[in-house]
Order: sequence, then structure tokens, then C-alpha cells
Amino acid sequence: MTDPTASTSALDTPRTAIVTGAARGIGAAVAARLAADGHAVAVVDLDETACADTVAAIAKAGGKALAVGCDVSVEEQVAAAVERIAVELGAPTILVNNAGILRDNLLFKMTVGDWDAVMNVHLRGAFLMSRAAQKHMVDAGFGRIVNLSSTSALGNRGQANYAAAKAGMQGFTKTLAIELGKFGVTANAIAPGFIETDMTKATAARMGVDFDVFREVAISQIPVGRSGKPEDIAAVAAFLVREDAGFVSGQVIYAAGGPKD
Ligand code: NAP
Repeated sequence: MTDPTASTSALDTPRTAIVTGAARGIGAAVAARLAADGHAVAVVDLDETACADTVAAIAKAGGKALAVGCDVSVEEQVAAAVERIAVELGAPTILVNNAGILRDNLLFKMTVGDWDAVMNVHLRGAFLMSRAAQKHMVDAGFGRIVNLSSTSALGNRGQANYAAAKAGMQGFTKTLAIELGKFGVTANAIAPGFIETDMTKATAARMGVDFDVFREVAISQIPVGRSGKPEDIAAVAAFLVREDAGFVSGQVIYAAGGPKD
């Protein structure tokens, strides 16, 4: 039997990882980091051609990646994508549910379409991907699921849909941790604060605020005195998927440059 207190090698067993919404932003940084850590990475996004930059950057750095077009909210597409990944890269035992969208509006102006679109990508997408991938993890007796939540889970003006979805991701994560723990599968959530990506740029544009001003206002509220970068989130994901992180499960890690609760 393995001694759980023994020190582990710096290098994990190479595995197959799926990162959704990995054409850009946080997902692209997570994909690059997991590839740099030795894993073969399926770069999943709505449009397969949009994944080319992420895949090329990983290949240039000596890593292995596969571009996969898939809308995570569509059951048949998810099933086909996970099957293709298992055949072309190997059985996926790491899954990062990162794909996300915003449809911000105050409640009285929020449409049913805005509500459903956000629920479908974040919650339905994470459910479908996790359900499809878990069987490979259970078969392997090892798995790591990382779900992207947000500090908005604590409530944020104009984001009733997004806040509900991101709070939902936390309950989903804790339940996966309870159900799958006995199969060697952990599930954890990362809840980022302000991260510089197209998503925060789009928010500034929607509010009619110059992005540099928007960022400075955000930074003034962040104890570490800087904004987050996609690589900050990739570093947390890289820890959570490690073999020696196997006793950390059902947790929500706020990566926001300061405490949130
Ligand atoms: P981003 O730059 O907008 O990237 C999101 C990616 O997800 C895009 O490539 C997008 O594709 C893809 N996507 C959207 N719908 C999809 C679907 N149905 N199926 C597959 N892929 C889909 O966002 P980000 O800032 O990197 O955010 C990544 C995650 O972190 C999201 O879950 C977000 O909610 C969360 N988060 C971000 C922040 C932040 O400050 N940036 C803070 C907290 C949490 P298209 O380009 O084709 O739409």
C-alpha cells in the first residue's frame, strides 16, 4: 500500500485533461499550464478553429494538445467530444469546467433568454461534461474535476443569472466530491475575483467605462494591490489536479487577491 505521508515526485503521472472554454482567457492559460505539467490537453471550445492559437502555443512549448469543437450545453456534442478525446488522447481523468458566458442585466430587464443561456453554459455544461468524463475517472480509480465558480456567487448587482449559476457550481462541486470520492475522484471549485480577460473587457465596454479605469477601480478594492491574470487561476488548477492534492475535495478556493466569504 502506498504510504500517503511519503514525499511524491515533482512530476505527476501524465494524464489526459479536458479544459472547456480554452480558446482564450482563463481556459487557455489552464490548458497551457496543464500541458506544461506534462498532461495531454483537449482544448474544448464552441468553435474548433478558435482553439488553434491555444493548441499551437502548447505544441510550440513541447506539449500535446487537441482542438475539439463542442458546445458544452448540448448533450450529444458533449458525448461525442469526450468519446473523441478518449480515442485520440486517452481516457480523460482531469476535467476543468471553465466555459462561461455573461448576460448581465438588472433583474427587471433580464430576459428568460439571458437567464437560460447562462444556466445552460455554466451549470448544464458542467453537469454534462462531468457526467460524460466521470466514467473514465471511475474506471481509472483516479480523477480530478475543477469547476470555475466566481466571487459573484456571493451576489453581484446586474448578475442574478450569473451569481445563481456560480453559486450553483459550488453546490454541484461539493456533491460530486461526496459521490465520487470513493473512486479516487476529487472535485473542487475555484472562485476567481477580477481577472483580466475578454470577459472583464466586455463588462467594462457594456458599462461604457474605459478598461484601464475599470481595472484601476477594481484594483483599489483588492488587498494584494493588483488585478488577477489567467495564470493566477491556472496555478490553482494545477495544484488541484495533482496526485498529491487527493485529500482536498469539495472545496471552493477564492482566488481574488484577498478574502471573500
Ligand atoms: P472568456 O475570455 O469569455 O472565455 C470563455 C470561453 O468560453 C470563450 O472561449 C467562449 O467561447 C467559451 N464558451 C462560451 N460558451 C461556450 C459553450 N457553450 N461551450 C464551449 N465553450 C464556450 O472568459 P474568462 O474570463 O476566461 O472566464 C473563464 C471562466 O472563469 C468562466 O466560467 C467565467 O465565468 C469564470 N470567471 C471569470 C472571471 C474573470 O474576471 N474573468 C472571474 C470569475 C470567474 P466564445 O469565445 O466562442 O464565446
